[in-house]
Amino acid sequence: MPLTALDIYKVLPKTNCGECGVPTCLAFAMQLATKKAAIDACPYATDDAKATLAGAAAPPIRLVSIGPEAQCIVMGNETVLFRHEETFYHPTAIAVRIRTDRSPEELRAEFERVLAMVYDRVGQFVRVEMVALEDADGDPGRFAAAAALADEMGLALMLMSDAPAVLEAALAGISAHRPLLYAATADTWEAMARLAKASACPLVVRGSDLGELADLTRRIAAIGVTDLVLDSGARGLQATLADLTQIRRLALRRQFRPLGYPAMAFVTARDPIDQVTEGTAYLCKYAGLVVADGLQDWQALAMVTARQNIYTDPQKPIQIEPGVRAVGSPDASSPVLVTTNFSLTYFTVEADVEASRSPAWVLIVDTEGQSVLTAWAADKFTAETIAKALAESDLAQRVEHRRMVIPGGVATISGKLEELSGWEILVGPRESAGMTAFMRNRWRQPEAAATS
Ligand code: SF4
Repeated sequence: MPLTALDIYKVLPKTNCGECGVPTCLAFAMQLATKKAAIDACPYATDDAKATLAGAAAPPIRLVSIGPEAQCIVMGNETVLFRHEETFYHPTAIAVRIRTDRSPEELRAEFERVLAMVYDRVGQFVRVEMVALEDADGDPGRFAAAAALADEMGLALMLMSDAPAVLEAALAGISAHRPLLYAATADTWEAMARLAKASACPLVVRGSDLGELADLTRRIAAIGVTDLVLDSGARGLQATLADLTQIRRLALRRQFRPLGYPAMAFVTARDPIDQVTEGTAYLCKYAGLVVADGLQDWQALAMVTARQNIYTDPQKPIQIEPGVRAVGSPDASSPVLVTTNFSLTYFTVEADVEASRSPAWVLIVDTEGQSVLTAWAADKFTAETIAKALAESDLAQRVEHRRMVIPGGVATISGKLEELSGWEILVGPRESAGMTAFMRNRWRQPEAAATS
């Protein structure tokens, strides 16, 4: 819970000296409570008072980062239970679990397969981020070699072993890239915590239930290891989802610090479709990391697509850069189309233009990510904004004609746009699915169309 002014007042010196810039300690406490002042403004604040305030200001779910700086994976620091309340900030990382009982060649092939799980969706590249490397036989040398290979290939890692000595061997060469260590349990927590502290790597804590988990995180945090990820020990969809939800509720609603860390989940289903369903359920509620065995390409695509949808801020539509894009290989006689910079609109238009087999230039107007009719209603996709975008583009140099196609939904602006731009304006189909027929019947035969 955030501290009230009265809570803060209790830890201030109560001398009312005024050196903080306000006449009384209570007035200063009110400023602190509303974040209009910082505790440093009081020269007499004790270390205890500072610690109390710092603790209250800490996020309810700690931010934990994993992996090399260049491709750092960040999880935690979420603030809401439901996406519509605000947004979810840090997309769930997805890891493919790979055991080390394979030859180096087989391991390399598996790592390459994971690295290739990158997909271009509505202008964004989404991917599977991690490998969860599992110690298969307790052999430190074999595990260290596999970890070194994955690290060398640029993969972010979760290192899984019950034996601290095996993890220590793997960490020797790669700890600077902050792999996630799995896992501290009731039996191993002291050795694992020491290892995490010495290597400055994040650590998974696994309990047999939420009570044991909270007890372990308290002990581990007390010795200075605070970059923790929670594994409640539950397996299977129902039990795991229940624990993930409980952890999130306790962290946010009760500010329960021992469970105020990102949580993770393992996909345990055997059927490939069930695996995707289970993994996607954990993406929704509330895993910071999902680990799945032998993920296939189509499964990865389904999961990263679901994740992209869930972690897109509903208040900020996905946008693409305004400007001019070529679809196909257009030339000086190719059509010029205009649309908005809402990603879903643009990529729908692009796909329909490609399907029409008529290469085209597309002028993308900055509508702050709004779709055609929404932007038109909000005065962001008007004759004026389109004429301005056209004038600022180099389309006049790219094409030899002066004809542009606008979406059918905004036919009413055609006259004014013609006036402002000096270009002939053709009214296109209301839906871009009609582009093939439009290109065939109207763009290629403008004179015939004019008389029809
Ligand atoms: S400087 Fe500190 S002790 Fe003095 S009035 Fe402000 S809060 Fe109180």
